[in-house]
Amino acid sequence: MALAEMGHDVRVVCPLYGSIKPDIKAGWRTLEKPHCVHLGGRELWCRVWETKLAGSKVTYYFLEHDGFFGRKGVYSGHDGDYHDNGQRFTYLSRAGLSLPYLLDWMPDIVHSHDWPTGLVPVYQNAHEMDSDLGKAATVHTVHNLQHQGHFNPSLMGWANLPGDLFRDDGLAHGNALNMMKGGLYHATKITTVSPTYAHEIQTPEYGCGLDPVLRHRAADLLGVLNGIDEAEWNPAKDKFIPATFTAKKLKGKARCKTALQAAFDLTEDDEKPVYGVVSRLWSQKGLDLLAEILPGILRDMQVQFVILGSGDPHLENRFKELSFEFRGQMGSFIGYNNVLSHLVYAGSDFFAMPSRFEPCGLSQLYSMKYGTVPIVRSTGGLVDTVEDFHIPEKGDATGTGLRFSSATPDAVYRAVGRACALWYDQPEAFSQIQQNAMAKTFDWDASAKAYERLYKEAVKARRG
Ligand code: ADP
Repeated sequence: MALAEMGHDVRVVCPLYGSIKPDIKAGWRTLEKPHCVHLGGRELWCRVWETKLAGSKVTYYFLEHDGFFGRKGVYSGHDGDYHDNGQRFTYLSRAGLSLPYLLDWMPDIVHSHDWPTGLVPVYQNAHEMDSDLGKAATVHTVHNLQHQGHFNPSLMGWANLPGDLFRDDGLAHGNALNMMKGGLYHATKITTVSPTYAHEIQTPEYGCGLDPVLRHRAADLLGVLNGIDEAEWNPAKDKFIPATFTAKKLKGKARCKTALQAAFDLTEDDEKPVYGVVSRLWSQKGLDLLAEILPGILRDMQVQFVILGSGDPHLENRFKELSFEFRGQMGSFIGYNNVLSHLVYAGSDFFAMPSRFEPCGLSQLYSMKYGTVPIVRSTGGLVDTVEDFHIPEKGDATGTGLRFSSATPDAVYRAVGRACALWYDQPEAFSQIQQNAMAKTFDWDASAKAYERLYKEAVKARRG
């Protein structure tokens, strides 16, 4: 949207997943002609839906192919990952890349994301070198390097890709075809969603086996921070919370805290700090570290906890058990609930994010906007967006949150304790840090400009 506002012609291609319903009343229409690609020795057709994102100039194209995408899940169903994910996302990459021919519109940049579209830069080099489309530079963005899309190399034949691209400096990763790796080798430029994560993924600790590829491509790798939609995430206008508020008038935040305590069956108490979590419950997020140490925290400190999340069944159960054991002091809601997430961001005093790795992270940005002081592990985008607080002998406290280094239960315990001491012993400094956090902007303007500069360099590199 920010790029479109700057005058660029931005078009997005994605599958029409089963959960997406074309809305003809809202202006969705189908293109006159269907789209066809040749894969697996067959013609594979899809219908293409076109629409505009509400309130924006960005055009969306949804590829309707029931066989591949007309199911409930995106990547997996009840029995785990779909067995044909290799074919499904090869199809998305091939059909998405060649859509400009159907539109009779040639882009300067083709921007692909994560493993599901890792084959886009590969096809661009393998099939389009001498075509009009071939002038377009490719940019591949890594949102999460942990998921790479490993498939049987026999997919090369189905994908209609030359066999010699299955090699170490290409699609081969051990004995598997690795779609992310293909994208990283073949893209003109690579980005990821924060400068710190861009450094981290070049190290064995965070590289998930692809750090040698990223070091090899370091000159073409850039970290650009994600922004947030500040119109949706704005405590002064939020329709999902019981009372709105601003940095100057925080009364509404106190009402949100009371509503939050009621929603999670906590004892109503404005003296005690409430710590919130809104997260996928997977090991990436480090919430197993928190779960391990929570009984100690709840016994030793005068604090309350609310957890909203879903994921690992063991962790879900553990949080439910703890909510039962520490009724009134801790509450959890297992599931996905956007409305409730707004209340957690608005009503909490602190927000806990002990991630093992965090490419960018949005939750810490929302919490800062809502005056909820983030407690984060120093990794990835958390380093780039949260400044650890400091209280000088004279003058105002600086910083926007609390940071800690180690991914251990002990370090989480100490960070929660440090926040607790700040709350009880230095309330003025706490208020200042809250103000510092709320004064930050995380919109897309600066990032869109960084992408614009990178796109220009990419076009030059491709055509030069
Ligand atoms: P990731 O993309 O790795 O899950 P981010 O912090 O970048 O982590 O973004 C997660 C987003 O999903 C945030 O907007 C957060 O509010 C939202 N979210 C995560 N879990 C839930 C949930 N159970 N209910 C509502 N929103 C959730």
